[in-house]
Amino acid sequence: MKVVRVIEYHQNLQLDEAPEPKITSPLDVIVKIGAAGVCRTDIHIIEGQWEEKAGVKLPYTIGHENAGWIHEVGDGVTSVKKGDKVILHPLVTCGLCRACRFGDDVHCEDSTFPGINVDGGYAEYLKTGARSVIKLDDKLEPADVAALADAGLTAYHVVAKAARVLRPGNFVVMIGAGGLGHIGIQVMKAISGATLVVVDRNPDALALAKKIGADHTIQAKDDGSFVKEVMDLTKRKGAEAVIDFVAEGGSTATGVKMLRRAGNYYVVGYGENLNIPTIDIISTEINFIGNLVGSYNDLVELMELAAQGKVSLHTQRYKLEDFQKAIDDLSAGKVRGRAILVP
Ligand SMILES: [Zn+2]
Ligand SMILES: [Zn+2]
Repeated sequence: MKVVRVIEYHQNLQLDEAPEPKITSPLDVIVKIGAAGVCRTDIHIIEGQWEEKAGVKLPYTIGHENAGWIHEVGDGVTSVKKGDKVILHPLVTCGLCRACRFGDDVHCEDSTFPGINVDGGYAEYLKTGARSVIKLDDKLEPADVAALADAGLTAYHVVAKAARVLRPGNFVVMIGAGGLGHIGIQVMKAISGATLVVVDRNPDALALAKKIGADHTIQAKDDGSFVKEVMDLTKRKGAEAVIDFVAEGGSTATGVKMLRRAGNYYVVGYGENLNIPTIDIISTEINFIGNLVGSYNDLVELMELAAQGKVSLHTQRYKLEDFQKAIDDLSAGKVRGRAILVP
């Protein structure tokens, strides 16, 4: 089968022939890939940033945002059959550890992550496990949802977490209306009665944010005037929640100034260090909350919203062979929504 692999770090990916994956355990599932999302993490992998963390042997196939059709299942699999349309939770989990039993898939003690530390979905076929496949509603196609398997799942996970404690009348500020943010906005409007304020530097991103449900949009400028605008909107009290999809270039230090006493600051983007005086944390009882991908159940719920037409994702399609163009376009900021590779 055709695969697109990392041969060496700091070099372009390469199109190769490789053997199809084989069933080796009763709960294995082989999926015929319908689409694989192209993610900034893929670029970080090529740059070698994951080399130590993933500990994977080269060459290997990347691609961790996958959807397609069931191709073959192990003897123990009864939940899906050949031909079923599915989206894949990004991790293959054990189902036996304490984290798995709590439904907290991301913290499984014995998991693999296809596309990060084993072969992924830039290929015609991919091996995963029965615990990781979610059947798609008739209305959804693999190519429409593949990129929701990671970016969308991360956005859903943090927004659902914030929404569990937000009440109608509360304010939530989202920093960043890009790939994750534009899913986050749709999810927040679908599941919460809180008033949603979106802050971004890019006027086009803000126009889209408004169109898909933001109650207020505010342009971020270097003078920090957006903090005052948020404080005015919240009658000088600040927002109950700030969701930071950026966390770079000083966004956390300014973001915290928009937070109400005892408010929650959700960190999703990463890059900078938190530098907050501890006296500010104790005197106001604010909380900082980390967020990493999402659980199987988060993805099931996100697919429910997608099937209801409440969350949609704009995708730009490329043939698997045109992987380099997709990566180049993503690096150059030329992709609207998310790029996907279709074998
Ligand atoms: Zn991703
Ligand atoms: Zn586990």
